[in-house]
Amino acid sequence: MLVDNDDNKNIKYPVKIHFANCNCTYYKKKSLNKKDIIAAPYRSQDYKKKFYIYNSIKDLQKDIKYFQDNCLCTYNQDIYNGGIILLSKYGISNLTINETYEMTNFEFLKISTIKNLKDNSLLIQEFFKEINTNFSQILDWYVLVGKTRNTDNFSFPKGKIKFGETIEMCCLREFEEETNNKLPEIISNPNNQIISREKFDIFVPLELVINNFILKLIII
Ligand SMILES: [Zn+2]
Repeated sequence: MLVDNDDNKNIKYPVKIHFANCNCTYYKKKSLNKKDIIAAPYRSQDYKKKFYIYNSIKDLQKDIKYFQDNCLCTYNQDIYNGGIILLSKYGISNLTINETYEMTNFEFLKISTIKNLKDNSLLIQEFFKEINTNFSQILDWYVLVGKTRNTDNFSFPKGKIKFGETIEMCCLREFEEETNNKLPEIISNPNNQIISREKFDIFVPLELVINNFILKLIII
């Protein structure tokens, strides 16, 4: 165990966990051998703070409780972030989406109109492209987008996966954190989603993979 004294308990800075063979530059610089697992500061202003090296996932598991604010490095095969794309056929829903500290101005916009929204991660543009190319029958449906507070940047509710989380858990947690809303089971349940798709006679997959994000489509 590397977190061994009281000063280090519940590390206050956000930590990114790099698994063995990570392809990012941070890992290449800091790892002594390619089997290392590194828990390291996430934000650039914290880079000089401590990082921790583990020999196995089992060892990391013992300390994970100290890294409360953590996410996984996605410069690694098969590691994805997660987010939810909430689609509505009619543009209205009885869900009231609340603002949060991070996101504001939530609205359902027609998919055909979202093409030029400013979006740093390009997820909106790539989602539009995917729909326009493969599922154009739903271009006149609506999709929930929000604005990142104090920027001109729009986004879907999305974020980074934490240690021990499934993609599904990540999508639902991020949606909840970014919109202040918990999706009712009737909406989030994959079986109901299949029924919705059959009802609307569309074949949009439940998940779209774009830019290391698994975006879970939820139809309301
Ligand atoms: Zn990495």
